[in-house]
Amino acid sequence: LTRTLSRSIPPLPLSAGHTDRAAHRRADEAWIQARLCDSRSRVAVVRGQQTLHRRDGEAVRAAWLGPEQLSEAVRREAVFLGERDGVALFAASVEADVVLPDDGAEWGELRRHLLLMEPEEAALLAFARGMAYWHARHRFCGSCGAPAECRQAGHLRACTGCGALHFPRTDPAVIVRVEHRGRCLLGRQATWDPGVYSVLAGFVEPGETLEQAVAREVLEEAGVVVSRVRYHSSQPWPFPGSLMVGFTARARSARLRRDEELEDVRWFSRREARDALQDGTLRMPSRYSISHRLMEEWLDG
Ligand SMILES: [Zn+2]
Repeated sequence: LTRTLSRSIPPLPLSAGHTDRAAHRRADEAWIQARLCDSRSRVAVVRGQQTLHRRDGEAVRAAWLGPEQLSEAVRREAVFLGERDGVALFAASVEADVVLPDDGAEWGELRRHLLLMEPEEAALLAFARGMAYWHARHRFCGSCGAPAECRQAGHLRACTGCGALHFPRTDPAVIVRVEHRGRCLLGRQATWDPGVYSVLAGFVEPGETLEQAVAREVLEEAGVVVSRVRYHSSQPWPFPGSLMVGFTARARSARLRRDEELEDVRWFSRREARDALQDGTLRMPSRYSISHRLMEEWLDG
């Protein structure tokens, strides 16, 4: 099944996810504790926004540690990621002063290494990073302010005051390729590298559907009314805690009204985009992103 899946789904980094999350194990405390005492178990380590890596020639790999290399306190808050080939995988957050094994392991920013990593490992580190980020921001209950304890192998925090249960969350954002008579709507933010343009994106607000979020974002950012909003694909985006939900849509007219959120927004024909990519005045978003996928597909169309 795994092989069939990898053949049929084009690998979008961060979304490989063929590891069995084995969610039924999370509540089995005895089993989790036994795995945390088993030196064959592997632990991905997160420190702030960084994960532990190791260079392997041109490639970059996750530097997995054994649970015995971590302190008791760190192990207590370890997050069970799942099982692969009978080996239990965990994520752990450490403070700055952890002593690294003397074997070339180094801290790095996952985003910078994504294209050099095997997709499954990158997806696991993304999972680890997303969970670490959520835990770091939910040490205290959002309802009453009392400390919240780690439960269910790191997949739940329970408030010690009012008993509220807090589950890991991910913030949905929509990203959309809008077309009008073969041309594609691309915009850029002033903070991006020179020349980089992307399809439009924005966060989903409470009380709206994904399709409504698409229509609202495109109207706000470009003044364009869209129809035929269709789901395309999605990508976990743990920078820091999103799920990008990709769509395609049709513009009713080509008229634009730029919002101040964007530095520029305009229609590109395929020829214009290809020429601009050639002479370097247009640059694509990073190759591992869903925005790249949406643009590339249009360019190839
Ligand atoms: Zn509480």
